[in-house]
Formats: sequence, C-alpha cells, structure tokens
Amino acid sequence: MSGAHLLLVEDDSVARVAVAENLAGHGYAVAEAGTVAEALRSWDAARPDLIVLDLGLPDLDGLTVIRRVRREAATPILVLSARGREGDKIEALEAGADDYVTKPYGMGEVRARVAALLRRVGGPAGEPSGVLRNGSIALDPVRRVVTVGHAELDLTPREYELLKQMLAAPGRVLTRGRLLRAVWGTAYSDEGHYLHVYVSRLRRKLAAADPGGDAKDLVAAEPGVGYRVRERGD
Ligand code: CA
Repeated sequence: MSGAHLLLVEDDSVARVAVAENLAGHGYAVAEAGTVAEALRSWDAARPDLIVLDLGLPDLDGLTVIRRVRREAATPILVLSARGREGDKIEALEAGADDYVTKPYGMGEVRARVAALLRRVGGPAGEPSGVLRNGSIALDPVRRVVTVGHAELDLTPREYELLKQMLAAPGRVLTRGRLLRAVWGTAYSDEGHYLHVYVSRLRRKLAAADPGGDAKDLVAAEPGVGYRVRERGD
C-alpha cells in the first residue's frame, strides 16, 4: 500500500526524524507527533491509514492514543516498545495495538511490520461463507467443522475455539491474556499453563492431519507475550 498515510508518534525528535525520513523514502506520507495531544489532534484532523506509536510520551501514556483510536476505528497500530518493558507491551496489545517492535529496532523490521499491517487492511475481504483459512487449514464456523487439506480434524470445543481465535488473526500477535479470556473466560486469565498445553495439543493434531505440511506452523511463540499467527498463506 504505497502512498499510505502514516502517523508517527515519538517524542525523541532525532529518532522521529530518522524514522520519518526512512518511511517517506519508501513511499509513505508521514505525519509526525511528539506528544499524545499532538497525536490526537493529528488523528482527528487526518485519520491516517496506520499509526506508529512510542508508548513513553511526555504528556500522557501512549495507551491513551490506543484506547481513543480503538473507540473510533480499526486503524492498525504498531507500537515501538522499550526493551525489558514486557508489561507495557502486553498492556498495549490488549488495549488494541496490533503489533510491536522492540527498541532498538532496525528500520527494515519497522517497514516489514508496517507493510504486513497495511496488507491485512487492504487484503481480500473474508469469504461470504465466513470460512477462515490459513494455508491448508479451513474452519467453517457455521458447521463447526475444521479440515486440514482433505482430512477432517477431531477437536474438543476448547481446541476449536482456540484455533478459531488464531485463524481470525493472521499476521498478528495474540497475547496469552487475550486467548485465555476468549477461550476460557475472564476467571482464567492468569492460568498461562492451560494455554501452553492446549497449543501443544492443537499443534500435534494439525501435524498429524498434515504430515510433512506446514499446518503445525500456524503460530510461533512470541516470548513473554503470547503467540504470533503467521500471515495467511495459500
Ligand atoms: Ca519516548
């Protein structure tokens, strides 16, 4: 999505100018903001296609931007997160950020994440039938049937819900808390070990149904955060 309008929110002006110039050099139109107040003014005035957001800002927490934008739109948000601040990263993802890169980041990584988020927005709409697909996996939410290639998968209700959450989020990071709340309900949001057990079991079933295939690689662990769902392949 060349020519996309990005809003870059970062208070470190040296870093901000460097990132803005790099993105502009790759065909993006970039607006800059150094505070939450400036970011929200720019959001109100221009509605960018994507926001790149530093969380540590001088006036208010960057989470304020995420919460405000999410009340109004599904615009993708890429967070720039300081190393060692796992809690901040998770809080941002749960507030509605779509992805993050950890400082110090490489510009190649920032651009790759920006491009992936924009592809998701501009990508083909879901199938009218509501079937969720990723590689050889297909989940039909109406019939509650999952197939891998031509094989039908025998899943427990929880495994089915877990797989559905993952297939609905191609290219995205899912926090453990979000998956636990979606599949087990709020009471279980700290029971991370349930999730590990269920993800392992789901991977084994996917691998068994698609020996030698890539179905088992649907998600990769994102250390300290949760899981990254691979981008939807054909
Ligand atoms: Ca900062």
